[in-house]
Formats: sequence, C-alpha cells, structure tokens
Amino acid sequence: MLPCARRLDEAIALDYPGAASMRAEIISIGTEILLGEILDTNAQYIASRLPALGIDLHWMTQVGDNLDRLSEALRRAWERSDLILATGGLGPTEDDLTREAIAAVLDEPLSVDGEMEAKLRAFFASRGIAMPERNVKQANLIPSCRPIPNPRGTAPGWWVERDGRILVAMPGPPVEMERMWEKEVAPRLTEMAAGGVIVSRTLKTVGIGEGTVDEMVSPLLASANPRLAVYAKADGVHVRITAKAASREEAQRLIAPMEEEARGILGKTIWGADDETLEATVGSMLRERGLSVATMESCTGGLLASTITDVAGSSSYFKGGFVAYTAEMKIALGVDEELVRRHGVVSQEVARDMARAVRERLGVDYGIGITGVAGPEPLEDKPVGTIHIALDDGRGSQAISYTFAQSRAAIKRRAVTTALFVLRRALLAR
Ligand code: AMP
Ligand code: MG
Repeated sequence: MLPCARRLDEAIALDYPGAASMRAEIISIGTEILLGEILDTNAQYIASRLPALGIDLHWMTQVGDNLDRLSEALRRAWERSDLILATGGLGPTEDDLTREAIAAVLDEPLSVDGEMEAKLRAFFASRGIAMPERNVKQANLIPSCRPIPNPRGTAPGWWVERDGRILVAMPGPPVEMERMWEKEVAPRLTEMAAGGVIVSRTLKTVGIGEGTVDEMVSPLLASANPRLAVYAKADGVHVRITAKAASREEAQRLIAPMEEEARGILGKTIWGADDETLEATVGSMLRERGLSVATMESCTGGLLASTITDVAGSSSYFKGGFVAYTAEMKIALGVDEELVRRHGVVSQEVARDMARAVRERLGVDYGIGITGVAGPEPLEDKPVGTIHIALDDGRGSQAISYTFAQSRAAIKRRAVTTALFVLRRALLAR
C-alpha cells in the first residue's frame, strides 16, 4: 500500500498551470481524540474536500484541550501554512480553549461582541431555556476575525484573515462543522482558490489482484498529470486517475484519454466507477433483465440480504432471504439432511443445496447459499475463514470456495462481496 500512497501524494503535489497553490493544514482539537474516545472524522471530512478546491494539504495535527500545547500547534501552523482549518474547542465549557489560543498566538484582545451575545440569547430563548452565563464566552471575538454563522449550534465559527494567512475555526460536532463547511467555508475558499482543481476518476475492478492490475496498467504509470494509482479495497482493486488543471473541465479532458486506455486494458474486470457500489450495480443488472434473487445465509447471518437491500428499489428483484444458522434450520428449510451428514454444514455441497432450496422455496431465478466459518474458533475441523458460496439458477449451480482468515467482521464482509461478484458473473454470462 505504501508505494500507492506515495503516488497519490505526488499526484497532489503536482504543479498545475496558473494557480499559486495554498498550503493547508488541519488542526483537530480535543482531548477526546487523543484518548482514542472519538475518531477524528472532521479531519477526514475536510481533507477529502480539499483536492476538488485545488488546495494542497500538507499537515494534519491533533492536539488536546490544553492552552499551551494548542497555542504551540496554532503558532507552528501560522508560521508554515497559508490556510489553517481547525475544528473543536469552541464550546462553552472551560476546556474549550480555541478562541483563547488563537487570541494569544495572534496577540489580539478577546472581547464579547454585543451583537453575537444577543444572537446567542435569542438562540436559547427560541428553545425556551435561559442561557447559562458560561455560554457568553462563545460571543467572544478578536479584531481580525469575522464570525461564521452556525444555525445548528450555539458557537459561531471564526474566519481570521491576517498577514496573508487564513485561519478558520469551526465547531467540533460534525453536524455543525459539516454544515458550516458546505454553506460558508467551502464557497469562500472556492472563490479564493479559483486557480485550479484536482479531479479524480476511480475505476473499480474485480477478480484480479493488486499486483496484476499494477502490472497490466504499467504503461500508464509513467504519466505525471494525469496520474494513475492502484489501490486494494474491500470491494476489489481500484484504479484511480487524478488530474490537476485550471478548471474541472480541463482536468476531465486530461482524464478522459487515460480512462479510455485503462478501460481497454482492464476490460470486463471493471464493474463500476467512482461512488458506485457493487450491490447497486448488480441490482440494476437484475432489474434490467427482469430477474429475481433470494438468499440462504449461514455464517454471514443476513449481511448479504442487508447489503442487497441497502439499494433503494431492491424489492423489485430481491424476494427475501433466510438466516439458516444451525444445521436443523437448514434442513427445516429444505436442505438435504443426508448431504449435511455426509459433507458437514461447512461444505460446497451444502452451499449448493442451500442455493437450490431457497430458489425453489421462493420461486426466484437465482438462489444464493453461503456457509462457512466466521471464527474465531474452527468448526467441524474446518479452519477459520473457510467459505463456500453457491448460486443456483435452476439449470445447475456454480460455487466458489476459499479461505480468508481474518477477523469475523472482515470474513463476513468478504463473503458478501464475493457472493455479489458470483451473481454479477452469472448475469454477465446470461
Ligand atoms: P468540542 O467543541 O471540542 O467540545 O467538541 C464537541 C463534540 O464534537 C465532541 O464531544 C465530539 O463528539 C465532536 N467532535 C469534536 N472534534 C471532533 C473531530 N475532530 N471529529 C469528530 N467529532 C468531533
Ligand atoms: Mg471540548
């Protein structure tokens, strides 16, 4: 994975015409993050939105609710970055110190702004509660900052511009931060960064390993802009083409010929692009062909049915499914008892019979059966991660067996993805 990460990093650091790139830094503030109590999703949210604005992210910092260390992090960011995006520490409690730290670093006085205070009081009044006096500190501003509206909470954000730098402080709660980003911060940054954008296109493949894909696309790896990189993901290997240009259209023009070449090389192994999911892709294939499917799951405990029904409108092709966890349950639903006795529940024979039984019982075009060992203990002397997946279409069945010894959750997830691949393959061959 490391070489790939390096490649993307290079892609983002590319020079592109006409844009003086902004060096950005994210600072996530909160002791909860350092204690591992919450995941720093704010940083990931912001980072994922910067490429489209043509802003290069150089650093991410996480710091606790401590005035000295927070001030130190802000001071260093102020020295080395053009754009600082901070989240957290704008609450009313004593440990919320972001305003104090910024005021200290910029050496500007904090004072309560009358208009902001009135807005705060009105916010509480509208909810029928008296404002705790502690909240007054959220109306504090410094001379170089403009408050950023926050209709989802009490604390306004801060937009600070000075010495050719921009510092934006946003609230910690993701619902407040995300709205503020989308409605207030991103639009202002778009205007300022109008110099260039980074656009990427992801092609999603299945059935070939990361190394093989990398080898296949090697003629395309030499290009710097657009740049192509290969990533192994839970739903197969992704090929990402990234281009940097003055406008979105221009970046897309750079991407198009490389995408065509990559598609030529990878052919039918590509099942989707960008945000498309396997369940949605397979779902629309079923819908277009007017075909239906049903499931009988053992070790995945209904996860396949759940994944299939993540797609709106799946009732037009998904009839239903059984979670047949024990041998008795499988037999009660029509699986041949003799097969279970002879081969054990974790066997390809039983997976095939589960697929047949559910197809016949629910009268669908495809039945899918999954059985295996999710672990952590082996079952019937079969090792952890043993999986058998079968698909029955009334004329016969096909099956895949493999071993994938990972965590219980990962084993289940991989089995669901593989089952969807098996279904896609059958649909393509039809
Ligand atoms: P704060 O404004 O720092 O007191 O944060 C308030 C709440 O927002 C925290 O208790 C978390 O639930 C959430 N939060 C703060 N920072 C982050 C972050 N970086 N990522 C995700 N959630 C956060
Ligand atoms: Mg806090």
